[in-house]
Amino acid sequence: MNKVRVRFAPSPTGPLHIGGVRTALYDYLFAKKLGGDFVLRIEDTDTTRYVEGAEEYILEALEWCGLIPDESPKHGGPYGPYRQSERREIYDKYTAEILKTDYAYIAFDTPEELDAVRTEYESRGEVFAYDYFTRTRLKNSLSLSAEKVKELLDQNTPYVVRFKMPVDRILQLEDLIRGHSAVNTNTLDDKVLVKNDGMPTYHFANIIDDHEMKISHVIRGEEWLPSLGLHMLLYEAMQWEAPKFAHLSLILKPEGKGKLSKRDGDKFGFPVFPMNFTDTQTGSVSKGYREEGYFPEAFINFLALLGWSPADDKEILSMEDLVNEFDLNKVHKAGARFSKEKAEWFNHQYLQIKSELEILTYLKALPQVIESALPDGKLLKIIGLMRERATFVKDIYHDGQFFFEKPKEYQEKAVKKAWTETSAALLTELNQNLDAIEFEAETLREALKSYVEIKEVGMGKLMMPLRLALVGELKGPDVPDIMEILGKEQTRARIEHACRAL
Ligand code: GLU
Repeated sequence: MNKVRVRFAPSPTGPLHIGGVRTALYDYLFAKKLGGDFVLRIEDTDTTRYVEGAEEYILEALEWCGLIPDESPKHGGPYGPYRQSERREIYDKYTAEILKTDYAYIAFDTPEELDAVRTEYESRGEVFAYDYFTRTRLKNSLSLSAEKVKELLDQNTPYVVRFKMPVDRILQLEDLIRGHSAVNTNTLDDKVLVKNDGMPTYHFANIIDDHEMKISHVIRGEEWLPSLGLHMLLYEAMQWEAPKFAHLSLILKPEGKGKLSKRDGDKFGFPVFPMNFTDTQTGSVSKGYREEGYFPEAFINFLALLGWSPADDKEILSMEDLVNEFDLNKVHKAGARFSKEKAEWFNHQYLQIKSELEILTYLKALPQVIESALPDGKLLKIIGLMRERATFVKDIYHDGQFFFEKPKEYQEKAVKKAWTETSAALLTELNQNLDAIEFEAETLREALKSYVEIKEVGMGKLMMPLRLALVGELKGPDVPDIMEILGKEQTRARIEHACRAL
């Protein structure tokens, strides 16, 4: 068997949507499982839809996800260039070749002429298609005489190359996920293969490149399934062996109906892009998973299971596990409903299994944490105490903000509940005793216990106002743990301040 080579072929028409990332992921997993290559090809023949920065975005997003291409415009490779706009010579050669076959012809109809025909059809309540039926009455090398064609070419009349769809053939199509289907060629139109500027359209460039780049499997979005018939015929026309095809079902909106589209942006309260994307034209920023605080591993794990399930229904899978377990036969035919809760669940899980040191790196990237200048030792303790209830690293900061700065105010409700007329005296005396105590959680726990015993008050009588003094409200981990991290000086200052303020 030839080497497995799978390509991801996005068009740089904007930021990569999470559906595109999932396609790239399945391409990657399939290739790597079979010891093959993962190729990134930029399909930029449609210059009118080109968006600046999109190619860089695609590469950076793939890298963030850990989907590093073996070959790409950035990484090079034996079948380059990997940008279609740089492959013109290759396409020219095959344009000439296909025109020698009976599968293509040239057409001179101007856009205005085609619009007029379209309008005429519409006025009769019909839909116009440039196909086996209408082509004989339009302006092309099939309908015009050889002399007329020559004359038009001599006058440099602009033309396009169209595919000549065979008449009355039933195509038998195979898809590795969807199985077998059949399509009658009479229902397919004569697609433009080469535009009047000589550049190929998606269909033609795509099959040329898949052939030239020795692609063995095409795994792509369901939206390309209607093009499969044409693509198979193009391989037939060129007398090339076609790759195997697999079309992935869509990612659906959370309610389960309709495709989750780029335009859905932040509508549902979660990003549809892997990373933030700034539209240079409008300046508007679309949110990304990376900036929202997702770990790439969690994002990838979540995406992998959005449309595929491993044999044993295991949920937490590293990239290595995914590669080992991936199986196209287990990719779902039905669309996968997006769930924000599930995405967050994955991030929470990864936050629990990651090493404290790795979490520390993320935590230390937050501006507020940098500003606080807390030493690593304290940050690690904070992580240990706070990670269990956090979904994102930033939650560790937000839920534990009192570690980083003293309370700006005391929550009214908490004051009512916790602060009594004896609190100030109880805490002031405690504060004096604390001077001689080593600030280590266990020692503090014991000290507080004996203090309430001596004072003959219930634990809550001390702990609640103490917590209020340190945190500003009645939340957070155990008080002695908080005290240890705050340290003697900070703890005593906060107690003193509360006694004065309340
Ligand atoms: N350029 C196409 C896209 O952006 C590629 C489709 C394919 O994989 O064949 O979706």
